[in-house]
Parts: sequence; structure tokens; C-alpha cells
Amino acid sequence: MNILVLGSGGREHAIAWALRKSPKTDVLYVAPGNGGTADIAENVDIDIADSEALLSFVAERKIGLVVIGPEAPLVDGVADVLRAAGVPVFGPNADGAQLEGSKAYSKEFMMAHDIPTAAYGRFDDEEAALAYVREQGAPIVIKADGLAAGKGVVVAETLEDAENAVRACFEGAFGAAGSTVVIEECMTGPECSLLCFVTAGKSFPMAPAQDHKRAYDGDVGPNTGGMGVYSPVPIVTDEEMAAMVAIMEDAAAATAGEPFTADYRGTLYGGFMLTPAGPKIVEFNVRFGDPETQVVLPRLESDLVDVMLAVAEGRAEDIQLDWSDDWAVSVVLASEGYPGSYEKGKVILGIEEAEDLDGVTVFHAGTRRNFDGELVTNGGRVLNVVATGDTFEEARERAYEACDLINFEGKQFRHDIGKKALQGRSAWE
Ligand code: AMP
Repeated sequence: MNILVLGSGGREHAIAWALRKSPKTDVLYVAPGNGGTADIAENVDIDIADSEALLSFVAERKIGLVVIGPEAPLVDGVADVLRAAGVPVFGPNADGAQLEGSKAYSKEFMMAHDIPTAAYGRFDDEEAALAYVREQGAPIVIKADGLAAGKGVVVAETLEDAENAVRACFEGAFGAAGSTVVIEECMTGPECSLLCFVTAGKSFPMAPAQDHKRAYDGDVGPNTGGMGVYSPVPIVTDEEMAAMVAIMEDAAAATAGEPFTADYRGTLYGGFMLTPAGPKIVEFNVRFGDPETQVVLPRLESDLVDVMLAVAEGRAEDIQLDWSDDWAVSVVLASEGYPGSYEKGKVILGIEEAEDLDGVTVFHAGTRRNFDGELVTNGGRVLNVVATGDTFEEARERAYEACDLINFEGKQFRHDIGKKALQGRSAWE
């Protein structure tokens, strides 16, 4: 079967890599792809927001499955257009994608279906929002309603910060995404992501993973898209895992009926906080997490083509997931200055040497080949250095050994991915 993956990050490289392993994959295309996907698939230069261009490509190349990586095309309805033309698509329609596309919508969905989450208020008016913040007090969380590339959330420790965040949203700091503001109770506890395949109202949990959002060691510095991740998550108790699985089953069941026009078919990502009162949803995402995918898919032993096609065709009864007992750790190598401004075009060396180490795979994020065929940096997050091992410590050591073998000017990374988890739950108290 010919398959088309949409996107250009580490997530899409990991998805393409897992699809490539299947004997069922014939020609694999990634649009637009990156320097890493170019080695295992054919990169195609199509605007992934352009449904018409996608439709003609799909017809011309006889594509049997389209996998939509990022949230923006899902929210924009690219899946709707392809699905209406009879193409099997992995990724929800635009109405399902509202679970990520609108935080207010997502909170209403959670309330309607008794899904545990932080108490909240929704505001379209600045004065009412400020009054609510003053009444609730700090700490409190201010969120722009729409997609803001992970930047529309402020966890305000003081009332002054909270008021400033509310004003910034209404003054357009996040564009149209901030014309509606969600204000939430501040929850406490470790975070844990549980990605699930969802189709026909059924949820199939993948392995849990834990991301590191802050830019620098010791969880300090600005928030990023994610600096490193591991799977499974040793600090999660069996009871918490069962609660997360049950919450995702409830959410999946709720996606199959009204008001959704089509049942949800894709990944539903539960971003959880393990609060003293049990796991609660911080947010839903409607696609694979980046960087969670990079440690989850290497542990999947089932054929990803079979799984994704069954999801796309609503065949829940055909989904069977097998996982390896390996541990997986991924460290992100970023450009100097990320998540602020950074330079591009730095030559990257040492990936082959790193991949010669046992259990090491490097998924590219911001890379491309220049005119001389050299691999160069092309983004803030450049590479995901993933290592698997029989133990958490082994996977961690291998990942860091590999990081030291890779070089580009300004290479920046966290040195403490997984450190807190090794110390145990008390590290979060
Ligand atoms: P979101 O984009 O909604 O996932 O928020 C980004 C990050 O902000 C989360 O990963 C949490 O670390 C933090 N956060 C969001 N909502 C809350 C909340 N209600 N309480 C505490 N932290 C939160």
C-alpha cells in the first residue's frame, strides 16, 4: 500500500519510521517531511493545508492511507475533505479536532461527560475575566482559547501575573486564539501523557510517556515544545494507570455520538496531571504528541499499518496492540537560543556514529539537506536522540552517550531527562 504522512517534525519521522518497518508499506511519502524522512521515504512539496492539492496527489499516487501528523490541518478540516472523497484517513474530522482547537469547547465536553479536570471559567470579556481572577486568587492558570502552538498558557503564581496574562490575551498576544479566555484552577502533581488510538467509540491505550517542557535542567526556564521524554513512566501507580485508561475510554465513547458528525478516528492524547485526588485531564490533543511519539512507537511491536488502517476504517475489533518491555528515553538536541530566536543552517555531524550504538535511533525534527547534500539545522528542536534498553538507566545512558557523538554549532540540550523519575515520586513533592 502507498501511504502519505503529513507533517515535518520528529513525530512524523517516528511515524514514517514505524510505517516503513511494515511489509505492507510500498511507497511512503511525507509532505513536506524533513532531512530524516528523506532517507526513509519520498518527501513531497505539497502545502498540507491545501486539501485540493492533497486530493489530486492521493488520486495520482494511489494512496491507500493518509496519516495527518499535526493539529492545524485537522482543525482546518483536511481530514473531512479527504474522508468525504473516500480516502482512509488517520486523524479526526474538524469537529473532533475541536477538542484541541478550542480549550473552551474541550472543557465543555469534559463537563458534559464527567471527565475529571480542573474547575474553570470561560470569558469573552476582559473585565469579567479580571474579576474572576481576583475572586479566585493565585496560583491560577490563564489559557487563550484557540491554537497558540503551545504558547497560550500562563501558570500565574501571583495575582499580578494572572491579571497581566488576562490583559495580554485580550490585547491580542495570541491573535484570534486569545479573544476567548479559559481560566482554570491550578492543579498540582506530576504530568503524564497517555496517547490512545480511538475509533468507533473505543480507546486503545498506548504506553504512557512523560515529557519535559521547560528549556533548562532542573525544570527551569521558558516552556518549550518538549525537551525530552521517556516511556513507560515508573512513578505512575497501577491504580492511576487504570484511572487514566478508564477516563480515556469514557472520552472515546463520547466522541462516537452527538454532536460529532463522524466518529473520531485517530490518536486522542490525554495530557494528565496526577493530582492528590487522582488523575485529571490538563488537555486533550487530537494527534500524536511530539516528542512522546518518538518513545512510544519504538516500543510498539504490532504492525502500525494494520493498526492505523483499522483506526481509519472504524474496525475497532481488528486492533491488537503489543508492546515491548524495553524502556525508551529521548533527548532533544536544540538550536542555541531555542525557544527564543535561533540561527539555522548549522552543519550536523555524527548521526551515523550515534546510530551505530546499540538501541539508538535518531529522529529528525528541524533538519534539511542543503545544496551540497549536507545535513543542516532547520528549526529550534533539531533532533530527537532516542535509545531503548532493558532498564531505564541503560536507555538513559545510551541516549546521552549518543548525544555526545552528535555535533552542530550551538547544540543545546537538557542533561537531566528522566532524572526526577529515577528519584521517585517524592521528587515532585
Ligand atoms: P496545555 O497547553 O493546556 O497543556 O498547558 C500547558 C502546560 O501548562 C501543561 O503541560 C501544564 O504544565 C500547565 N497547566 C495547564 N493547565 C494547568 C492547570 N489547570 N494546573 C496546573 N498546570 C497547568
